Amino acid sequence: MLLPIEKYGSNVLRKVSAPVDNVNGEVITLVQNMLETMYAAPGIGLAAPQVGVNWRLLTTDLSSGKDASQRIILVNPQIVEAEGEQYSEEGCLSIPEFSEKVTRPQRIVVKGVTLDEKEMVIEAEDLLARCFCHEIDHLNGLYFLDRISPLKRSLITRKVKRLMKDGKW
Ligand code: ZN
Repeated sequence: MLLPIEKYGSNVLRKVSAPVDNVNGEVITLVQNMLETMYAAPGIGLAAPQVGVNWRLLTTDLSSGKDASQRIILVNPQIVEAEGEQYSEEGCLSIPEFSEKVTRPQRIVVKGVTLDEKEMVIEAEDLLARCFCHEIDHLNGLYFLDRISPLKRSLITRKVKRLMKDGKW
């Protein structure tokens, strides 16, 4: 089932999400819907708060559905190592039509739990590292906008507020 994507300004996107205690049917259904929603968007990553649920849960697929081996579902993800820096363009399904360059670690190690409740450790570089950092930020109530200069941020938020006012957001 396709879920509506929460946009910048929504309260759920500013909350710190709660850990998932057990991967029950409700969680599995949510993940299926998140994957469907992410592929339809299309996007390469989605965090549960973006579909209105404040649980620590994310999906990524750099191939956006073209290569099933690239699909990653992570419950309670945590960055346990980060090194280096990369600086490139980033967008967000919750802030459609806007993008900006963001500094992220070049390489990270992420720990989390799979849908079969097994511990998973993933070493990620480049775009995948960026994607995990972006989605984990959502679990902590942050947008990529919080990681750019105040000047660039206000340029975007002013445009978004104008769209909100015009009922186009
Ligand atoms: Zn996002």
